[in-house]
Amino acid sequence: MQFRAVKGMNDILPDAVGRWHRLEAAFRRVVESYGFGELRTPVVEPTELFVRSIGEVTDVVQKEMYSFEHHKDRLTLRPELTASAVRAYVQHKVNSKEPVSRWYYIAPMYRAERPQRGRYRQFYQAGCELYGDAGPASDAEMIDMLVSLYTELGIPDLKVCIHSLGGPGSRAKYREALLEYLRPRKDELTELSQERMEKNPLRILDSKSEKDQAVVENAPRILDCLEEEDLAHWDELKRHLDALGMQYEVDPKLVRGLDYYTRTLFEIKSDAGNLGAQNTLVGGGRYDGLVKRLGGADVPAIGFAMGLERILLAMPETDDTPSPPCFFAPLGEAAISAALVHAKQLRLAGVRTEVDSRGNSLKSMLRRANGLGVRHCVVIGESELEEGRAQLKDLAKSETVEVKLSALVARLQSLMTSEDEA
Ligand code: ATP
Ligand code: MG
Repeated sequence: MQFRAVKGMNDILPDAVGRWHRLEAAFRRVVESYGFGELRTPVVEPTELFVRSIGEVTDVVQKEMYSFEHHKDRLTLRPELTASAVRAYVQHKVNSKEPVSRWYYIAPMYRAERPQRGRYRQFYQAGCELYGDAGPASDAEMIDMLVSLYTELGIPDLKVCIHSLGGPGSRAKYREALLEYLRPRKDELTELSQERMEKNPLRILDSKSEKDQAVVENAPRILDCLEEEDLAHWDELKRHLDALGMQYEVDPKLVRGLDYYTRTLFEIKSDAGNLGAQNTLVGGGRYDGLVKRLGGADVPAIGFAMGLERILLAMPETDDTPSPPCFFAPLGEAAISAALVHAKQLRLAGVRTEVDSRGNSLKSMLRRANGLGVRHCVVIGESELEEGRAQLKDLAKSETVEVKLSALVARLQSLMTSEDEA
C-alpha cells in the first residue's frame, strides 16, 4: 500500500528548497533591518479565536477552516496568523512591557480551498505585525519595506494598491449607503452575496463573481464616506508614500476578505509567474480594534501576510543549488571508518562533505561523485590507509595526487576556500 500527500498539500524536496531559503533569508534580513523580531505560535488554536477575529461572515470562517473536536475542545488549524499573534500579544501582556512591538513570522497555514496554481490547502505565509503605532507613517513604511523586498528578489511588474476603510464611524456610515444601493439590486447578486447582504455587505465588494462585480461597479465609495479623522489619516498616508517616491494606485474595491480591518488597506500584485487570479502577492492593513476585541487593551495595529508559494512563482529563475560537496570514496571497512573521521574534521572546518559509505566499487562511487558535480574526491584504499596516505582526485582536471592523511584536511580546506573566493 502506498500513500500520497493530502490533496492541496505539497512536499518540498531538498533539490527544490534552495529558492525557499533564498526567499526566507531575504525576508528575514529585510524585516529585521526594520526592527521586527520573530514570533512562533502553535499550529492549532481554539476555533473561536478565528471566528471572533476573522469574522463569522467571511470565506475563511464559513468555508475554509480545518476544524475538529478533541476532548470537547473545538480546535482549528490556523488559516492565518494575525489572530494567533494578537492572542499571544494579549496573553503575554506585551503592551505593558513595551509601547511598540514589531513581530514577524514565517509559517504554514491551512485552508480548505479548491487547489490551483498559487492556491493550496497547506501554504506558507510570511508576515509582520506592528502594535502600538496608529499613525500612517508606519503604514507607509511597511508598504515601502515590501516593495524593497520584492525589488531585491527581482520580481517585476509590481502594482501597489491602497485604500482606506475608515474607522467604525465611517464604516457604519458607509454600510448604510451601500445597503441603500444594494437592496433594490438584490436579485442581481449571487445567492451567497444575497445571504451576506444584511450581515456584512462589505464582503460583496470583494466577491470574485462577475455577477456581483457588475452590480458593485457603480456602488457608492467608501472614500466618499470617510469621517474627518479617517480622511486626514488617509491623506497623510499618501503624502508619506509620495515622499518615499512610491508609485501606487487607489483601488476603491479593495476591502480584503477579513473583518478586522480598519483604515489603511493595501495589496501588492505582480503579473509575473502566470498567476492569473492568484496574482496578489501580499495583503495587509490596519486592525486597530482587534487587540481590544480579543480581550486586550486599546492598542492600534497594522500587519500584512504574503503567500510564499506565489512569491516563488513570481521570482525569476536562478540557480539556487548549493556548491557540490567534497567527496570521500573509501574502499573497505577500515577505509570507510577513516573517511568518517577525516570528513568530520573537514565539516568542523566548515567544508560541506559527503562520504560514500555504501561499500560499492570505486567506479560506482566516482559515478556518483560526478553526478553530484563534485570536484575534489578523496580515494582511500586499504593499502594506502596502512601507509597513512590517500589519493586526492581533481575530477574537473582529471588529475590525481597523493597526500598524507595527516595533511588532508588542511589541503582540502584551502582548495575549497580558494574556489569559493574565485
Ligand atoms: P485570495 O483573495 O487570493 O484568496 P486572501 O484574501 O484569502 O487571498 P489573505 O487571507 O489576505 O488572502 O492572505 C494573504 C496572502 O496569502 C494572499 O495574498 C496570498 O498571497 C496568500 N494566500 C492566501 N490563500 C492562499 C492559498 N490558499 N494558497 C496559497 N497562498 C494563499
Ligand atoms: Mg482567500
